[in-house]
Amino acid sequence: MGGQSRGVIIIGSGPAGYTAGLYTARALLNPLMFAGYMSGGQLMLTSDVENFPGYPQGIGGPEMMVDMREQAERFGLEVQDKNVERVDVSKRPFRVWVEGQEFSAESLIICTGAEAIWLGAKGEEDQKGRGISTCATCDGAFFRDEEIIVVGGGDSAMEEATFLTRFASKVTIIHRREVFKASKVMYERALNHPKIEIKTFRQVREWVADDSGLSGALLEDPRDGSEELINCTGAFIAIGHKPITGFLDGQLETDSDGYLVHKENTMTSVPGIFAAGDVVDKRYRQAITAAGMGCQAAIDAERWLEDQN
Ligand SMILES: Cc1cc2nc3c(=O)[nH]c(=O)nc-3n(C[C@H](O)[C@H](O)[C@H](O)COP(=O)(O)OP(=O)(O)OC[C@H]3O[C@@H](n4cnc5c(N)ncnc54)[C@H](O)[C@@H]3O)c2cc1C
Repeated sequence: MGGQSRGVIIIGSGPAGYTAGLYTARALLNPLMFAGYMSGGQLMLTSDVENFPGYPQGIGGPEMMVDMREQAERFGLEVQDKNVERVDVSKRPFRVWVEGQEFSAESLIICTGAEAIWLGAKGEEDQKGRGISTCATCDGAFFRDEEIIVVGGGDSAMEEATFLTRFASKVTIIHRREVFKASKVMYERALNHPKIEIKTFRQVREWVADDSGLSGALLEDPRDGSEELINCTGAFIAIGHKPITGFLDGQLETDSDGYLVHKENTMTSVPGIFAAGDVVDKRYRQAITAAGMGCQAAIDAERWLEDQN
């Protein structure tokens, strides 16, 4: 067993996890964090964060996460850069297994985030976080007066495309079918927008780049394999996100998309287990909202633990 039972174990080290770590450490709950396979979370993948208050000139994502970690560690958060393999939440203290070692805590705060689903088209890896993004709110402003494509056929694709018209000179929506999953109102808003063109029966086969970055996309018609090359210097993939909950093995309730659900404030379906950030949030998905929820989860955990004594 990995030491004595803790007040709190925090799983995940994005903005939600570090904020929960900061608050629980300052509340003297002796928190232990498992930072996971991607220490620092999704912001490690981006160069510039311009919408987190307190950084008037913007800040690099990795730098911001180093700052968040340092701040939480200063108050006593212990961080281990390891992945949680499984948990047993059938009784307290809750048990957590990491690299074969067992740890336990009176409460857990789950902040394991979500992953954007990527297309996996040729050339994508090289352009991730540069010419190709999965978050228009985060990266749209970097593509002023440029031609952008948005891939997807649901509400998020329509919303991202409409939002991107504020910056882009032209937005082309690429969808591999004729029928759109998006609601009628969202679809029509995009369809009628003068800056948006919609191309159906198209999928990205390959991303094309030159020395200055992304320059186009080679599209394919899935019906007959015919190809078309279109220009774009930015692309947004909006085909969905996947919350990271596999290690929970179905022990906590989720919604139909697999996101953890809050039952009372930030408490999940198991009393004493709290969740924050993108693992519960399919609507906002921002660093500031994740950090805010991490704070809420820490305060909820602290009060819940107090009530148990
Ligand atoms: C390219 C990119 C650019 C972005 N730009 C911005 C921006 O400019 N502004 C903005 O507000 N938002 C931006 N976002 C969104 C923002 O990054 C997320 O909303 C935010 O990071 C969510 O925080 P989180 O704490 O919920 O989880 P995440 O940041 O997703 O972190 C999840 C953490 O869980 C850990 N984890 C997962 N599984 C396990 C496990 N089994 N055991 C232990 N740990 C585990 C991972 O290692 C990771 O540390 C961007 C996202 C991306 C992908």
